Amino acid sequence: MNSELYPWQQPQWESVHARVANQRLTHAMLLSGPGGLGKLDFARRLARALLCESPQANAMPCGGCRACLLLEAGTHPDLIEVTPEEDARAIKVDQIRTLAAQMTLTRQYADYKVAIIQPADLMNRAAANSLLKTLEEPPAGALMLLVSARPGELPATIRSRCQLLRFAAPEPDTVAEWLQACIEPGQDARLLLGLASGAPLAALHLATSGELEHRARLWEDLQGVAVGACEPVATAAAWLKLGLEVPLNWVHGWAVDMIRLRMSPSGSHLNNPDLRPALQALAERVDLRRLYGLLDRAGQGLGLAQTTVNQQLLLEEMLVYWFDAVDTQSS
Ligand SMILES: [Zn+2]
Repeated sequence: MNSELYPWQQPQWESVHARVANQRLTHAMLLSGPGGLGKLDFARRLARALLCESPQANAMPCGGCRACLLLEAGTHPDLIEVTPEEDARAIKVDQIRTLAAQMTLTRQYADYKVAIIQPADLMNRAAANSLLKTLEEPPAGALMLLVSARPGELPATIRSRCQLLRFAAPEPDTVAEWLQACIEPGQDARLLLGLASGAPLAALHLATSGELEHRARLWEDLQGVAVGACEPVATAAAWLKLGLEVPLNWVHGWAVDMIRLRMSPSGSHLNNPDLRPALQALAERVDLRRLYGLLDRAGQGLGLAQTTVNQQLLLEEMLVYWFDAVDTQSS
């Protein structure tokens, strides 16, 4: 892991550093905010800083002590990470029970024993209840870091026992330079930030993962379904190879943009400014209520993405609805 703090996390770092310095750090913190802001990296950096045997003046870990080397190797006994097991949709109660037992073991090197639970909102009910017991009677030196992009999914009893540390998308002006230095010179940092709702690491992922090519194909398919060139059921099957959330996130953003263009064709700020002419052309051929219908379907689908919903049927239903929504007479 890169040990530099991301520039947009400086305020949160200073806030936590002040709490540590004043010995006001509580035993549990909830790191909340949208994905792509580096909350998990922040939690790991904080753990490293607290476990390091000779932290630097700015409280960053030294990188060279015994604790830092164990952390680098992923074998430090006082840092425990809990995440859903492979292929599981939830963090299960057995995992939290194991964590609770580990937290009570004697600390081996440092003043702290740190647990990172992420995404904390994926704890099932039994797991959350089990964690609650540990939060109510925390072992000495315990620090539990709960990381979540959907803190509303956590029980209020858990949230109320955590100090809240909020992360928000930074102003594009403050991170465009950072992003541009991480990507190819020909790539447009501001466009990428816009597409990623301002989340810098999500923007970086877009630039380096092939996701932009997926986006181009999904956009072609959505237009293809609209004019009858792509068949909805086969398109749904092809989309599902990317999982449910990737296509739904893009469709959601395009639906928002088409609605904006119908409301105010010239002046709207768009999530996808590079697609403005094509979005406008498509938006003009669909009844506004149907655009809202598409938006609703994408939004509801995203809400169901972590459930056992039939994902193929969900995408099919949305694309059939979209196929019916477009006025093909005017083509
Ligand atoms: Zn160190």
